[in-house]
Amino acid sequence: MRAGNGLDRPLEGRHIMVTAGPTYEDLDPVRFLGNRSSGRMGFAVAAAAAEAGGRVTLVAGPVGLATPAGIERIDVRSAGQMMETVMARVDDCDVFIGVAAVADYRPAEPRGEKIKKTAETLELKLIRNPDILATVAGREQRPFVVGFAAETSDLESYARGKLEKKNLDLIAANLVGQGRCFDASDNALEVFSRDGHWSFPSQDKRSLARELIELIAERIELSET
Ligand code: C5P
Repeated sequence: MRAGNGLDRPLEGRHIMVTAGPTYEDLDPVRFLGNRSSGRMGFAVAAAAAEAGGRVTLVAGPVGLATPAGIERIDVRSAGQMMETVMARVDDCDVFIGVAAVADYRPAEPRGEKIKKTAETLELKLIRNPDILATVAGREQRPFVVGFAAETSDLESYARGKLEKKNLDLIAANLVGQGRCFDASDNALEVFSRDGHWSFPSQDKRSLARELIELIAERIELSET
């Protein structure tokens, strides 16, 4: 399953699956719950993994982005569909990078007909979505697993908490809100492993993705020696 070939194509011979974008959770045939993820970071990570020689499967939520060259793209809408698509392919995968901003909750009872504005107040009951990243990382035969964490404060402690709780190999964390990250072309990342910490300063998401992929390739090599 492996074959790194030196510096320029360090993911040669490996299958990398990347999730990207938001998920939309339908309330009725015309309304949904979504989030501000543009998908740009995930698409940049997928493109960088392909440039590094990897075979890339990109599982994308609803975004208006062109597919990077040489990548298999599967479009999904909801967290449930993203989970199903990922789990159907994970056995064949060496690296899993969860960049998608997956909805934590979905409507408990999506309506088949448009909800009418008759009542003065409307209560929505939501139920938890399964965690795709933690499910992949919890498997016995698992790929190298990388998560993302978007936080509004306490970046390091939340990121390290997720690394442990979800049993990840690496987590890439960034601050969001106040114009940062979501919907923006630049981003900065703090990356953590159980025994390491790397800081990537604010830069274009494509160059940031290349640096992250380089680090992932190095860590995989290290874990195999
Ligand atoms: O716990 P939190 O949602 O902040 O974790 C973010 C990370 O978990 C991201 O890598 C995201 O893609 C992944 N995730 C997931 N499935 C969920 C929620 C988050 O794969 N239901």
